[in-house]
Amino acid sequence: MAGRAAPRSRRETRAVVLESLLRNDGAFRPHIARETQLTEASVSRILAELRNEGIVQEIRQPAPYLGGPTALVTLSKNIPIAGIELSNNRLSFGIGDLGGNLDYVERVPVSPQLKQAEFERLFVDCLATMDQWTCRRGIAVRQAAFSLPGYGSADTNAIFPWDMQRLRGFLAEALEGVPLAVTNSVIAQAAFHRYSDRDAYPAVGDHLFLFVGHGVAGVIVNESAPIEAFSPFELGHMVLERGGALCRCGHRGCLEAYTSLAAVSEIIGLPETEVLQRGDRFIDTLNFDQGARERLRERLFLLGLGTGNALNLHPLPSVVVSGWPSLLSPDDREAIMEGMDQSLLGGFDPERLGISFIAPSIGNDPRAALYYAAYCFVRAGGLDARSEQRPLEEENA
Ligand SMILES: [Zn+2]
Repeated sequence: MAGRAAPRSRRETRAVVLESLLRNDGAFRPHIARETQLTEASVSRILAELRNEGIVQEIRQPAPYLGGPTALVTLSKNIPIAGIELSNNRLSFGIGDLGGNLDYVERVPVSPQLKQAEFERLFVDCLATMDQWTCRRGIAVRQAAFSLPGYGSADTNAIFPWDMQRLRGFLAEALEGVPLAVTNSVIAQAAFHRYSDRDAYPAVGDHLFLFVGHGVAGVIVNESAPIEAFSPFELGHMVLERGGALCRCGHRGCLEAYTSLAAVSEIIGLPETEVLQRGDRFIDTLNFDQGARERLRERLFLLGLGTGNALNLHPLPSVVVSGWPSLLSPDDREAIMEGMDQSLLGGFDPERLGISFIAPSIGNDPRAALYYAAYCFVRAGGLDARSEQRPLEEENA
């Protein structure tokens, strides 16, 4: 990428090559060299190393042009990684590969007011079941990621008002040395969309990624920055109505109280657990009347109002929405733009603000955390974070 400093250490060089493969779901050598700004010789050397370690594999597949390379390089499907999510009122554990395939999933229901001690008990139980599964197969998890809502750089979390230091200590001890990354749910969602289907992602450059699911949150995506540097913001807890509907954060009138999946499931008369079960097609299976449709449009209007306010504080050229609103017709989604028109300074102008919608993948937890784990694995260059870092080498000669 133009303007990016050339990588230097062995770890960094391996990381850029691996990230290119993760982003593109496999690539040919010249393409990798172009994208990583490494020479083809360097790329070949690194790939040989990664292939010996079983991290990448090459598939015979000619490039779609004459005289091009004949081997497509992909990430190995044999690196077990774990995704763990606290979302949708459940704790989900999953094991899968760097391609995002889940081979093992366990989900246990949790209370929205989950206490830290109860979380720890459930976590230990789920972990024991997962360990049995990995032991039977003789595999060892190389990287784990855990995502939870409200998590940030501060040691406070309004959604789960726990002791975050104790949480990190507990997780490190429970996972017994397996490299673990902890992140905010919306960052894991951003990683999921960045790496699961690159071609389907509608925005390039800096933009606001908005996730409207069980929770409502946003993240400012800076395309040239690593994902863990993105700042999540709790758009869902913007108070839009004084004394309004009660929110799980304890306040009244938050955007989330009107636009979360739970709020929507009430309108359409389908329990949220059923919505999660049906996944992205849940809306197709419904026959809601004009009244319900009107109410959903009102909620979208509020979402637009909140988004416009957020953009007044932090202007960005485009917004990508992932969540139930993406499943409604373009006609209904106009309500979001109407809401924005009433709050955004200067009004909503499609010439100045791009807005696009992507499929939310409802009920697929812990797949987002799994993608985040894949990302963390490649960011570490596929090197075991526990092993001592080898001396720096000039790889880009
Ligand atoms: Zn709230």
